[in-house]
Amino acid sequence: MDSLLKRNLLRQIVARSSAQGVRVIIDGKRYTNFSSNDYLGLSHHPDVIASVKAALETYGFGSGASRLLAGGTDLHDALEAEIADFKGTENARVFNSGYTTNVGIIPAITREGDVIFSDELNHASIIDGCRLSRAKTIVYKHCDISMLEELVRNHRGRRNIIATDSIFSMDGDIAPLEDIHQVCLKHEIFLYLDDAHGTGVLGNGKGARDHFNLPSEPWVIQMGTFSKALGSYGAFVAGSNEIIQWISQTARSLIFSTALPPCVIAGSRAALELLRKGAPLIQRLWSNRQLLGDGLTRLGYDIKKSASPIIPIMTGTIKDTLTHAAELFSQGIYVPAIRPPTVNAPRLRLTVTAEHDSDDLALLISALGSLRE
Ligand SMILES: *Cc1c(COP(=O)(O)O)cnc(C)c1O
Repeated sequence: MDSLLKRNLLRQIVARSSAQGVRVIIDGKRYTNFSSNDYLGLSHHPDVIASVKAALETYGFGSGASRLLAGGTDLHDALEAEIADFKGTENARVFNSGYTTNVGIIPAITREGDVIFSDELNHASIIDGCRLSRAKTIVYKHCDISMLEELVRNHRGRRNIIATDSIFSMDGDIAPLEDIHQVCLKHEIFLYLDDAHGTGVLGNGKGARDHFNLPSEPWVIQMGTFSKALGSYGAFVAGSNEIIQWISQTARSLIFSTALPPCVIAGSRAALELLRKGAPLIQRLWSNRQLLGDGLTRLGYDIKKSASPIIPIMTGTIKDTLTHAAELFSQGIYVPAIRPPTVNAPRLRLTVTAEHDSDDLALLISALGSLRE
């Protein structure tokens, strides 16, 4: 602990005493929040809250057992049917979180002798899923398609898999999915797509596959979460009947863990319904993203290859990054500093949402401008 403290790497757990949103209260003080993944503000939408309350009255709170032991409800089944319809796949299964989806499914769909090709910036839950699998993991350079293709060519196997985030959670860039799709097609291997940040954000909310206009294929396995743009909790996998059946029989994080509470499922269903009608919200998210990106570029900030509501600002050393975050915090703006081991290069990580207004964006841009003086 002392050594973490000395190296400026001791992390803090921050507690909020208000709903998640643009205006949050931390230690009794109001902050304008640029750290939330609740991109559309659905976590506190009245329709979502009403659905949660109604389900709580009917079904009670806890689910009492895993899905295999009747811990699930007709709400769980309905949400799965709605997700399959929304994603245009044969079937879908709800998992307890994005983390448990990746650590459960990756070992379930791979065996000893298989190879997983994994982008070096993939989310920690994919990395941990690969560690739990008996397959060999080969990490390729971030979004480097020629390296990826060469690796795939040199390691043949019918059950091999490319695993990638759609939007990378710390850099905010988007994976070149058309190219990755082509590599899978050509070499007849599987694609495991983590669409945690793409769900509700890309492709009119439907996710990365729609954004790139890629066909629904039986060899594509898509996961997404309810925990980000859907403002709820939990996750899903969508794919062919065969894959979903196999995962349901073998993914240990599904079988050996208690099902999500029915009221959480009801909240996700209401959020999904709002997302289906949510074109104006999604447009506002992207126009805010455009405004903020332009403002930061005008100030001369390096935002790497961000092409999403996640915007990293590269601020030099760990110490500089912490100083910047502290300065913004003192001005009532919450922007977290992200440090190793989460990332190699320290940065401020901004997220912009549909709920920010032009004053919020102007406040942030002006504060970041004065940091450069
Ligand atoms: C957040 C995230 C997860 C984990 O999802 P939770 O629902 O928070 O457990 C998985 N993958 C990526 C890319 C993420 O950003």
